[in-house]
Amino acid sequence: MKFNLDNLTRENIKKLTPYSSARNEYKGKSGIFLDANENSNNDLLYNRYPDPLQIKLKQKIASLKKLTPENILIGNGSDEAIDLLFRAFCEPVKDNVIICPPTYGMYEVIANINNINVIYVPLTPDDFQLDVKTILGSILNSTKLILLCCPNNPTGNGVKWNDIQTLLIKFKGIVVVDEAYIDFASYKSLISELKNYPNLVILQTLSKAWGLAALRLGLAIASPEIISVFNKIKSPYNISSLSQTLALKVLNDPKKIIKEIKKLTAARKKLSLAFLDFSFITKVYPSEANFVLVKTTNANKLYNYLAKNKIIIRNRSNIAMCEDCLRITVGTKEENKLLLTALNNYKS
Ligand SMILES: *Cc1c(COP(=O)(O)O)cnc(C)c1O
Repeated sequence: MKFNLDNLTRENIKKLTPYSSARNEYKGKSGIFLDANENSNNDLLYNRYPDPLQIKLKQKIASLKKLTPENILIGNGSDEAIDLLFRAFCEPVKDNVIICPPTYGMYEVIANINNINVIYVPLTPDDFQLDVKTILGSILNSTKLILLCCPNNPTGNGVKWNDIQTLLIKFKGIVVVDEAYIDFASYKSLISELKNYPNLVILQTLSKAWGLAALRLGLAIASPEIISVFNKIKSPYNISSLSQTLALKVLNDPKKIIKEIKKLTAARKKLSLAFLDFSFITKVYPSEANFVLVKTTNANKLYNYLAKNKIIIRNRSNIAMCEDCLRITVGTKEENKLLLTALNNYKS
């Protein structure tokens, strides 16, 4: 089936005249800026509105990821990028999206906020892979997005590229692949596939491996055509100057992050092995991320015990297919040691 971005985009978005600032219209760099009602005293550090398109930051990200700035939308966290996907392509009440639980909770929440229907096609129970046949059978004319997460949260595994590819080929809407944890994975990002699939949107974030959760910077990576739809509807100054500047600083030293990632994946391996020794942990799921999902004999009891010891983990036990499961983030060396000590002292 052929992908047609124009057919997919909501009518009101196609017709929209986006907000345009005087500074957008004025192409020059320097001048006396009396257009935006700021406090003109340039001794104040943050008196000017930020670059609405975050060009410097995008150039940096593009060079690191072999992209062009036109392939990138920077959102106030990935959550803004997810919200833009819904607002650009899904007509409230009428349209729907496909989600494959157990997965990241925000897809469903943002769908609900935008009043978009959700079709649930669970992952396969044993290995948390895509049930491609059922997904294809569930697609309606009103299905606009299929949201996938790879590596998946909270299960930690990756879904098979062959399956994603089948969906990219057979679905005429957009396939979103959330790669929030890709830096921890043993396989590569799908960025190199963008040129082959005009209906692919990749989500990444600076909140996890890049250590910038406090700055709120999420990325949508897609064709320039899709990105320009997002640029049309995003709020003009969605990323603060402070976030742009600080992120640039961190991205200038990728070696440091690569070292961090190696440390965290080594610690993940060590923790996963250590978890196997506890009788009350009945399964340690393989992880491609910086967290580990474990099945326990009594998740609520263990969760409460750890909380009492001031160790806070994520209780996922009330999610279908994650019964009695807990999700544990890989911490620092000291934190992991304290966790293991607490687990050693636990009486199940
Ligand atoms: C943590 C996480 C994100 C990141 O969200 P931000 O809003 O960018 O901090 C995105 N997707 C998944 C699956 C996550 O677990």
